[in-house]
This record gives sequence, C-alpha cells and structure tokens, in this order.
Amino acid sequence: MYNFSINPAYDYEQGTYANGSVNERMELYRRCEAEGVGISVMKAFSSGQLLDERTSPFGKALTKIQCIQYALDKPGVLTVLPGIRGKKDLEEILKFNKATEEEKDYSIISEFTPPEATGKCVYCNHCEPCPMGLDIGLINKYYDLSKAGDILAKDHYKNLEKTAKDCIQCGHCNTRCPFKVDQMNRMQEIANYFENI
Ligand code: SF4
Ligand code: SF4
Repeated sequence: MYNFSINPAYDYEQGTYANGSVNERMELYRRCEAEGVGISVMKAFSSGQLLDERTSPFGKALTKIQCIQYALDKPGVLTVLPGIRGKKDLEEILKFNKATEEEKDYSIISEFTPPEATGKCVYCNHCEPCPMGLDIGLINKYYDLSKAGDILAKDHYKNLEKTAKDCIQCGHCNTRCPFKVDQMNRMQEIANYFENI
C-alpha cells in the first residue's frame, strides 16, 4: 500500500504538492494498479481548499462527496483517508456511503480541464447510461491498464458481460461526456485492441 495525495487540483497542476503533469500522474496511478500496488489517498480535499470557492484554485467549490468519488475512480486507488478532526467530520464523511449518483457527480471539473487532459477518459461514467448496458468507465480503465502492462486487465475485460464489441455506435456517450472524449471512436479502438492481443 502506498500513500499518495490525489485530488483534482493536484492532478490539474494546481497547488504546492501538485507534482507531475496530468499525464504523468495518470500514468503513475495506472502503473500502481498494473504492478499490484494499492493507493491510499491523502489530501482528497487539498487540505480543505477545494471545499470553498474562495480558496479553490478553480474558483468553484467541490463537495467532500465529489472529491472522494473523484479519487476512488483513479486506477490503483483502494481507499480514501480524509483527515478527521472529530465526530462531526466523521459523520460528514460517512454520508458518502448513502450519497446519490447526482451527489457523486463531479463533472463540474470538466470546466477546469487543462488542454492536455481534454479528450481523455477519466472513467467517471458521467456518460452513462449506455443503451447497450456497457460499463463505459470500466471498459476504458481495463484498456488503459492493459496498455500500461497490467497482465490481469485483459482477463478482467474479457469477463465483462458487455464489452466494446457490443457498442452500437449510437453516440449517446459522446454527447454526454463532459471531458469531450470521442468514446464512439474509442470503443472501436478498444474492440480492435482486445481482438488482437
Ligand atoms: S467517456 Fe467521458 S463521461 Fe464517459 S467515463 Fe470517460 S470521461 Fe467519463
Ligand atoms: S456509442 Fe456505444 S458505448 Fe456509447 S452509449 Fe452508444 S452503445 Fe454505449
């Protein structure tokens, strides 16, 4: 297990501990999963800065629930460990367990996405529902992990009930993705890739 600070600010190169570029950080998360190293997330709220629009580097506040979901969607992440100052903090964090999909939706960060991250899938599933029942985020995650050398990703992909081959190119995900991913194209690319490895 490896402790690492993950939040949208650090991933988008904002703040003192924002080490590495967007791509380098995503590669690190994939490498951890590929090599069987679990990540325990610290500073999910960027020391609270992201929770207040006056201190958020984006000028907009995120909720704790959005920040936790953001971190959990990253490859390799097993757990998020927010700082707890008392019972009130703990009760707030535990609300995550009962949060709705709308409360977990962090697509607002697409407004701050730097050019190098635009068009890249972050596995958030904000483009769901897919009419064919594909788990779009998971399919993309296994694809990226397999390309990063994760030998288990191929089997995980092949064990999915629906894979990229089942995509009917309806375009619903393309119109819904806040991160401007051309998912229709990517599904064809993913289907080809897994057919040929
Ligand atoms: S295509 Fe877009 S909305 Fe769908 S999982 Fe990827 S980043 Fe999220
Ligand atoms: S284009 Fe494919 S993956 Fe996207 S919503 Fe339609 S069927 Fe699902």
